[in-house]
Amino acid sequence: MSMPTPATARAGAAALDVKRLRQDFPALKQEINGRPLAYLDNAATAQKPAAVIEAVARYYREDNSNVHRGVHTLSERATAAYEGARETMRGFVGAASTREIVFVRGTTEAINLVAQAWARPRLQPGDEILITHLEHHSNIVPWQMVCEQTGATLRVAPINACGEVRLDEFERLLGERTKLVAIGHVSNALGTINPVRQMIERAHAREVPVLVDGAQATPHMAVDVQALGADFYALSGHKMFGPTGIGVLYAREALLDAMPPWQGGGDMIKAVSFDGTVYNDLPYKFEAGTPNIGGAVGLGAAADYIAGVGQAQIAAYESDLLAYTEDRLAEVDGLRLIGTAANKAAVASFVIDGVHAHDLGTIVDHHGVAIRAGHHCAMPVMEFFGLAATARASLAFYNTREEIDALVEALREAKNIFG
Ligand code: PMP
Repeated sequence: MSMPTPATARAGAAALDVKRLRQDFPALKQEINGRPLAYLDNAATAQKPAAVIEAVARYYREDNSNVHRGVHTLSERATAAYEGARETMRGFVGAASTREIVFVRGTTEAINLVAQAWARPRLQPGDEILITHLEHHSNIVPWQMVCEQTGATLRVAPINACGEVRLDEFERLLGERTKLVAIGHVSNALGTINPVRQMIERAHAREVPVLVDGAQATPHMAVDVQALGADFYALSGHKMFGPTGIGVLYAREALLDAMPPWQGGGDMIKAVSFDGTVYNDLPYKFEAGTPNIGGAVGLGAAADYIAGVGQAQIAAYESDLLAYTEDRLAEVDGLRLIGTAANKAAVASFVIDGVHAHDLGTIVDHHGVAIRAGHHCAMPVMEFFGLAATARASLAFYNTREEIDALVEALREAKNIFG
């Protein structure tokens, strides 16, 4: 998934009416510490458009009921809304069938599901799972856990000084014993866009299935799981302008079919007796218990909203804004950008000589600017760069150059106070 060229970026920038789109986001209309809010913490979670808030509220106001059970009208409406959201998400990721769309709490749960239901029964001592040094903790720890449970080994493809995965090393580590590759699509800590299609091709050449952690991709670019060749693809609703507590695990139907259920309970069964239980069809086999119906409805509304804005326009606009952000940050005395990959999305991570990242976060908040400071749940990345923390501005399509200017002004003040 390559980012647009500068020329198309400029065309896209013109095509997106950000001023108007910002009106869709009630939370953006407030002042923080007497200044207009500049929300630059989108990689942590994105703000929600009124269309999402209203879809969730309307569901609870008018249709609230349990799904797949009742014969009454509200239950039929709730089921239609929930399954409608599944169809929307099928289209959003380009899956072949709604049987391949499992609603989960988010990316973390999706990865844990694959670790426990796909990997755990298959792994033998000495088998290997290959990840990269760029991963978020939720694409590391579930694999460490399953390695502990099975005696398998976790292998890690290294990165270079720009924060790009070293593809030669990745390929070298893909070996006879590799049973699964798990890679992030976009790094939340650095913004690096991994060449996932290429990486998947290399893994598939060795018949190794690939899980892609798409948490940071879906808010910024169009994703087509079939074009990518992904076997598993995980996403979180709250990163893509939807509610918290809802996400999707996409998995190829043949893989899901061959997997035992992860959790047991209501809705994931066809029949239960004390002699045994018959599991439900896909995808319900993996959705034990009452699901987050309102969340799914909100996620569907978020996907529709993104489609309405236009994914190509979003990618182009953000590419332009990220270039502007990096140029402006370079003007701040003593600032060093961490993560300078050739192909990046929406994230500018940085440190400033003599100023702790957390102090930066606090001072810019006085200016109404929300950024994140810390290890960004990617401690191995911080360790690679010899840092405990970075400050991170992470963008969405509703951010503006004025907000970046406010950030830079606030950083200059921080530098004056501490530097
Ligand atoms: N992977 C990446 C790259 C992320 O940025 C995040 C969230 N910061 C996650 C996984 C985990 O997502 P969630 O907390 O929504 O499960």
